[in-house]
Amino acid sequence: MHEGSGEQERPLPAAFGGAAMATTHVRNDLVEAAEALFTAGVMSHSGHANLSARIDEESFLLTPGFVRGIRPEDLAVVSLDGQVLEGELRSVSAEIITMHSIVYRARPHVGAVIHTHSPSATAFAVANRPLPCRTEPMLRFGQAETVPVVPWGPRGSDVAVRGIADVLERYPTTSAALLANHGILVFGPDPAATAHLLVAVEESAEAEIAAAALGGAVDFPEGALEAVRASIARVAS
Ligand SMILES: [Zn+2]
Repeated sequence: MHEGSGEQERPLPAAFGGAAMATTHVRNDLVEAAEALFTAGVMSHSGHANLSARIDEESFLLTPGFVRGIRPEDLAVVSLDGQVLEGELRSVSAEIITMHSIVYRARPHVGAVIHTHSPSATAFAVANRPLPCRTEPMLRFGQAETVPVVPWGPRGSDVAVRGIADVLERYPTTSAALLANHGILVFGPDPAATAHLLVAVEESAEAEIAAAALGGAVDFPEGALEAVRASIARVAS
């Protein structure tokens, strides 16, 4: 260990050692994003979630089957074609690899993907109801459009994966998708921004449900979403 590096080192296969060290900051960012979700109170009772962050064009870090109390060294390195390159996944996590890799394949600029069963977003998923963009935080964190619903398919199955791929293609600017009868999938440039978006989506779902008792949520004034989309496009270009 180099003096003052402050980093925990552990034995790694030679082929992946360099890459693993290069991912140290991504590992830390992903763990911080996981903690932020618990702090924000957007997790379901089970605490179920899986988070990933892109390393490069061919691989990403993935939580191994739990997120509560996760440490940077617990994250596995997985290739986009589903091979575990480093670390270990619980069997349930192996099933969800494709749910993450399909997003990285379809969206080259996506740097992080988060899946949870956040209660209010999941209520929309269970109702198979798209979640409209009607709150300021959703606008601010880049989801200036309705969150579409991916039809149900067994987790990790070809049907579920094709469903996600179809929605990504049909809604090329969405950063979130509800998984019917299951939960929510959000994606963004990095773990922190993606966690912020998830919190905004969950808050919006909660507000929609609360507003139903008051006669129902209403849309932004005409043209508001288009204006935000235009400014997002300007920043991105
Ligand atoms: Zn799930």
